[in-house]
Amino acid sequence: MNSLHDMTVAELAQALKAKKVSAVEVATGFLARLGGNPHNAFLDIDSEVTLAQAQASDARLAAGTAGLLEGVPVGHKDVFVTRDFATTAGSKILTGYRSPFDATLVQKLGASASGGAGMVTVGKLNCDEFAMGSANENSAFGKVTNPWDTARVPGGSSGGSAAAVAARLVPAATGTDTGGSIRQPASFCGITGIKPTYGRASRYGMIAYASSLDQGGPMARTAEDCALLLSAMCGADLDRDSTSLDMPSEDFTASLNGSLEGLRIGIPKEFFGEGLAPDVRAAVDGALREYEKLGAMLVPISLPRTELSIPVYYIIAPAEASSNLSRFDGVKFGHRAKDYTDLVDMYKKTRAEGFGNEVKRRIMTGAYVLSHGYYDAYYLQAQKIRRMIADDFQNAFKECDVIAGPVAPSVAWKFGENAGDPVADYLADIFTLPASLAGLPGMSVPAGYGAGNMPVGLQLIGNYFKEAQLLNAAHRLQQATDFHLRKPDPAA
Ligand code: GLN
Repeated sequence: MNSLHDMTVAELAQALKAKKVSAVEVATGFLARLGGNPHNAFLDIDSEVTLAQAQASDARLAAGTAGLLEGVPVGHKDVFVTRDFATTAGSKILTGYRSPFDATLVQKLGASASGGAGMVTVGKLNCDEFAMGSANENSAFGKVTNPWDTARVPGGSSGGSAAAVAARLVPAATGTDTGGSIRQPASFCGITGIKPTYGRASRYGMIAYASSLDQGGPMARTAEDCALLLSAMCGADLDRDSTSLDMPSEDFTASLNGSLEGLRIGIPKEFFGEGLAPDVRAAVDGALREYEKLGAMLVPISLPRTELSIPVYYIIAPAEASSNLSRFDGVKFGHRAKDYTDLVDMYKKTRAEGFGNEVKRRIMTGAYVLSHGYYDAYYLQAQKIRRMIADDFQNAFKECDVIAGPVAPSVAWKFGENAGDPVADYLADIFTLPASLAGLPGMSVPAGYGAGNMPVGLQLIGNYFKEAQLLNAAHRLQQATDFHLRKPDPAA
């Protein structure tokens, strides 16, 4: 048996079922590994809670009532609310907040006694404040470092999730993707992550950033592990999430081994232009050649409005954020300013103290583009172009089955490289934003290594509800390559 922390979710689940190891042993092993909080990946750890969950898992394993992933550890991005751990969304404004309930995805992955898959929560993972960012430099609780090179960013906003999985502090984690926050940190940290079709996994209990874009999903080392988690996460939640789709989950592991013979992979020319770093391009090209060897065909396609996805996203997302974040006012949740003269003064001081700079920037941008006189010029235009971006994908899917390209224009950059220039970070989102705006499923699969020996991810985008096809393509690539098996720290 591999050491516990090197085992995949699939392997751990099997070892637990076969009673080769107990859930308490697994939890104890991972807790020891993440004590001291390497990479500042975790925001809350509570070994008592974790061990109690593990004991309950062992009882169910013994009784033969175990869930599918009984006893396997998981970490949750800190935008998912949890009853047993603090929840901050990476913001000072939520200091001291504890949710009275668990987010639907936490529930679905958690205690099998309440219908979940039986995973054991080892803690809450650091992230950009309210999931706003591309580098995890916007967390109020300190930056997360990239396990491949601690001078570099892990990507964002699910940077803690990606770093924890890459550093083998946890075999799998949840992430949320509004404009790329599952795919881009997965790419930067050399792991696998998938954002399902918008609405396929519940948003209930996921602290809202931009509601028409926010989507939770799994991050793990292999496509198979992502398939296992995603199968447990998806499904209708109609009473609790108004944008949940009435679409049952699937067993996404069922078609992992399907043949790729004749699969048409669309290659959007806009994803391979001047802005793409040559080292990233080389790795992506290498992965595409693997696909050809597996019988797939590369088909040139065009997504002509790719560049527009940046202004469109950075109008729509802040607009929705400015509305969603109005609930943090010092009355309902978390932090409240100490000295104030009246109610309005309390609101102002609480928000001035509680929010970080990037969040304030987005709230101001959002309020501006929604204001009388500018609504038509910005917000409405952006909505129209968003529709066209979605149409571009439907045109492309007439010629191909899946779309492939880079996740990001470069490998993970160094801390401080983009400091003080938020637009530089925004521009780096160019390849992930289009699928988010269209609500399409997308994933990142380790595809090789670039400058500084940093990981490079291949992005796969599918049509609506084609998660199984993406996971199948990712799994086949992982059977043919070993990029997903390499470890950041040889001593680890
Ligand atoms: N980088 C993008 C942003 O800052 C995407 C973040 C996300 O997907 N949560 O909004």
